[in-house]
Amino acid sequence: MLTPSAPSANDVPPPRYRRTKIVATIGPASCSLERLKELIVTGVNVFRLNFSHGTHASHLLSLNTIRQAAEQVGTPVAILQDLSGPKIRISEVEGDFAQIADNKTIELRPASGKKSSPSEIYVETLNPVNILKAGEIVLLADGIITLRAEEVRADCVVCRIVKGGRIRSRVGIAFPESNVLLPATTEKDFRDLQFGIDNKVDYVAISFVQNAEDILAVRHAVQAQGGDIHIIAKIERKTALENIESIMDCADGLMVARGDLGLELPIEKLPRVQKELIEGGNSRGIPVIVATQMLHSMITSLRPTRAEVSDIATAVISGADAVMLSEETAIGEHPAECVRVLDRVAFEAEQTFDFEEFRHRLHHTEKAIVPDSVAYAACAAAVKINAQAIIACTQTGTSARLVAKYRPQRPLYGTSSRHETINRMCLYWGVIPIPNESRETHADEVAMALTAVRERQHVHKGARAVIIGGQVVNTPGTTSILEVHKFLDD
Ligand code: PGA
Ligand code: MN
Repeated sequence: MLTPSAPSANDVPPPRYRRTKIVATIGPASCSLERLKELIVTGVNVFRLNFSHGTHASHLLSLNTIRQAAEQVGTPVAILQDLSGPKIRISEVEGDFAQIADNKTIELRPASGKKSSPSEIYVETLNPVNILKAGEIVLLADGIITLRAEEVRADCVVCRIVKGGRIRSRVGIAFPESNVLLPATTEKDFRDLQFGIDNKVDYVAISFVQNAEDILAVRHAVQAQGGDIHIIAKIERKTALENIESIMDCADGLMVARGDLGLELPIEKLPRVQKELIEGGNSRGIPVIVATQMLHSMITSLRPTRAEVSDIATAVISGADAVMLSEETAIGEHPAECVRVLDRVAFEAEQTFDFEEFRHRLHHTEKAIVPDSVAYAACAAAVKINAQAIIACTQTGTSARLVAKYRPQRPLYGTSSRHETINRMCLYWGVIPIPNESRETHADEVAMALTAVRERQHVHKGARAVIIGGQVVNTPGTTSILEVHKFLDD
C-alpha cells in the first residue's frame, strides 16, 4: 500500500514572488500589534514612521510593536523614519477653521504668536515679505486655495484670493513661483534623528531636500555616532530637481514625494518627473519609492478607482522599487485591503516585465567596479544556465542591491548574519532576505544559504543556484566570487 510520504523541503511550492516592495505609513489605523501582523502577512515590507505627527513616546511604542509583530510573524521588515523637514505651515486659526472667500484680499504676515483669520494669515518658518514678489502664486491646503501676491509691504504681503476655500490650523502653505531656500533639516529634525539613531531605525527619509549637502549633514550626524542608517532623499522641491544628479549620487535611495512635489511643479509635469527619477535611481541601482495618493480613494472606499490601479501599475512597469501608502494605512478605514490591492496590482504588472531588456539597458550604466560586475555576471549566468535562484551572501546588503539593479527574473535571495542588513534588504526590489548565522568561510555560508533557500522554494533535482559572495566573509565591499551550485547532491 502506498503511504503518503511526509512532506519534504522539496515539496515546498514556489512562493508567489512579488518583486515590488510595499511601504506603509503607521498611524492610529495601523499601530496595534494585531493590525501590524496582518499588514506584514498581507505584504508590507517597510513601515514608515511619519515624524510630522506624533511624539517620541508614540513613535517608540510603534517601533517596538512593529519589531514584535515582525518577530511573531517571522518575516523581517524595515523601519523608515521620515523627518518632517521645513514644511512651511500657517499658524493656528481662530476657531480652528476659517472660510477664505473668493476675490477678496488677504494679508500674509510672519508668525508672531497670533492666530490666522479670514483677513490675515501668519506664516511660520519664513517671512513671506522676504520671498514673495508681486504677481507670484501662493497655495494653501494642498493647493485647494490659490492666492496671488499683489503688493509687498514692509510688514505684510497683500494677496488676492484667486480661489478660496476652508483652511484649518497649521495647514501647509507653498510658494511655487518663489525662491525659497531653507535647510532641509531643522533643529526638530536633528532631535528626531537622534531618536532614530538611538532606536536603530533602518532608513531615514529627509523631506524637502535641496542639494547633496542636505544629505551629507544627516549622514555626518549619523556617522558621528557610529550609526548605520541609510538615507532616502525625498524629492519634493524644484531646487532638488535642479541638483538632482548630485543628490542621486549621494543618497542611498529616493522617494518621489508626489504630494508636495505636485504643489511645487505644474501638476502635468509630475508623471514625467516620476519617470525620470525612477530612471535615475535604476541606473545607479538605488531604490526609488513612489509615494502619495497611490490609493487615495481607499482611505474611505473598499475598492480602488481604475485610475489608481493604473497609476500603481505604471509605477511598477516603469521601474519603481517600491510603492508607498500614506493616509491609506495611517488613518484610513481599510489599511489591510489597501496593501492587498497594492500587492495584487504590483504582482500583475510585473508579469509584463521584459527582464532581458532591463539587464541590457542597465549594463552600461555603472562605473566598472568589481561587485557591480559580479552582480551583472550573476544575472547573465542565471539566464544561461536557467538557474532556479540567485543568492547574494552579503555583509551590508550591497551585493544584493547590485543584483537587483539588473532586475533578474529568478527569485533573488540575500543572506546575511547581520539583522540590520536583513531589514535593509526589505526595501530592495526583488530581494528576499534570509537571516543566516555567522560563518567563518565562504563555503559554509554557501551551504547554509542553499539549505535556507530550499526550505523556502521548491527545487527540482539538478536545479542550480548562482551564488555571489566575498572570499573574506564578514567584510563589506569584497564581493568577487561567483559560483554555480546544485541545490541537491546527485
Ligand atoms: P509627506 O511626503 O507625506 O511627508 O508630505 C510625501 C509627499 O510629499 O508626497
Ligand atoms: Mn511631503
